[in-house]
Amino acid sequence: MKLKYLGTGASEGIPSLYCHCPVCENARKNGGKDFRTRTGFVLDNTIAIDFSPDSYVNMNRWGVDFGSIAHLLISHTHEDHYYPDDIVMRTPASTKGIAPVLTLYGNEFVRKRLYAVDFFNEYVLNFVAVKTIECNKTYDIAGYQVTPFYTNHMRREDAMEFLIQKDGKSYLHLVDSTDPSELVYQYMKEHHVVLNAISCDCTFGSLKDEFYGHMNIWQNIRLRDRFKANGNLASDALVVCTHISHYSGVDTHEHLSKIAEANGLIVAYDGMEIEF
Ligand SMILES: [Zn+2]
Ligand SMILES: [Zn+2]
Ligand SMILES: [Zn+2]
Repeated sequence: MKLKYLGTGASEGIPSLYCHCPVCENARKNGGKDFRTRTGFVLDNTIAIDFSPDSYVNMNRWGVDFGSIAHLLISHTHEDHYYPDDIVMRTPASTKGIAPVLTLYGNEFVRKRLYAVDFFNEYVLNFVAVKTIECNKTYDIAGYQVTPFYTNHMRREDAMEFLIQKDGKSYLHLVDSTDPSELVYQYMKEHHVVLNAISCDCTFGSLKDEFYGHMNIWQNIRLRDRFKANGNLASDALVVCTHISHYSGVDTHEHLSKIAEANGLIVAYDGMEIEF
């Protein structure tokens, strides 16, 4: 599998719109890996995961052809993960009819928020389909086995983590996610899953405090160690920290990367690609 990280920042991005903290000022000055847009992933150019307001810009930055991607998993409907206003642009007025139907997969709020977009009308449904999926069930999506799990991230809806498997490879997506639940550990054990890659929510970087709905790098290390101890992690597994906030206790990508590397993890940056 090839996984591309389109955006690796938390909800406000780095630099944040209104912020003059040293992290944001550094990103404004230096750009590069210190500049982080909002979340987005593309797996094998086949399945996209989450669709932030920066998807449009990232399509152009990283040469992603959203017009040829027909499957989009939505972890939850926080604005930095789901921007349905641009999904309704799928209609032929803007695509000349060349794009295949885009199917969105997620909880029931994915449909509700799409239908609430001002540009939405019934005609859009000729080009965009919505499939409501439930946690702890496995779905075949474009030949991939996708299993969503509940994560305690937001109060009004079920936010999802995803286990994605194909041809003996397993990828675990824990973004906008807190520590995996006991059920996730149990599932991995019972199904003898050997993970080849994990994307971990690392919103709070090197901070020691643990906050609701997200993780820091110490929690990422802890979950990696537990999967390893349980025999659910390949020896060459890639464990990637992403969704990083300006409020993370570190001032640069390099700073967080040093901590990550010392612990066998990788810090994502916008445009990074991993293969496993
Ligand atoms: Zn987020
Ligand atoms: Zn800032
Ligand atoms: Zn969120």
